[in-house]
Amino acid sequence: MSPLAVECLRCGQPHVLGDARWERLTESECPRCGYLGWAPSAALDEPARRALRERPVEERRLRVA
Ligand SMILES: [Zn+2]
Repeated sequence: MSPLAVECLRCGQPHVLGDARWERLTESECPRCGYLGWAPSAALDEPARRALRERPVEERRLRVA
């Protein structure tokens, strides 16, 4: 599995998955803000990021799950 760039849905903290699997990342809280929610950077363009930031956290969680 090639490295996957992801970012925190709350604060935008970038994170690169090396050997870690996506399943494990989804159980890891953001080291910066403690939020549990990641999305592949490639899947997020600027309008999508803006939309996420404007959403209530509850909806973001649903989107991730
Ligand atoms: Zn964060």
